[in-house]
Amino acid sequence: MMSFWFPFVLLAIIVVSAAIGIIGFILVCNAGRDTTPEPPEPPQLAPVERCGKGHPMTDENVYAYPSGRRVCRTCDRERRGRKAGNHAAV
Ligand SMILES: [Zn+2]
Repeated sequence: MMSFWFPFVLLAIIVVSAAIGIIGFILVCNAGRDTTPEPPEPPQLAPVERCGKGHPMTDENVYAYPSGRRVCRTCDRERRGRKAGNHAAV
C-alpha cells in the first residue's frame, strides 16, 4: 500500500514545496520592491518668480533698482510702448 502511494506523496511534497518556494520568492520580491527607495526626484528648480502679468522674473527679465526694487523688464517695455503709443496716438 505504501509503495503505491509513495510516488504521489512524494509528488505532493514536491509540488507543495515548489508552491511555498514560489510564494516565498514572490513575497520576498514584493517585500524587496516595497523597501526599495523610490528613485530620487529630479532636483526641483526654484519656482520662477513671476510679475503681476505672469512674466518670468528671471535675471534677464528683471531690472533691479539700487533701492532693491525689482521691476519686470517686459512690463516696463510694455508700459513704455503703451505710453509711446498713446503719445503717438494723441
Ligand atoms: Zn511683467
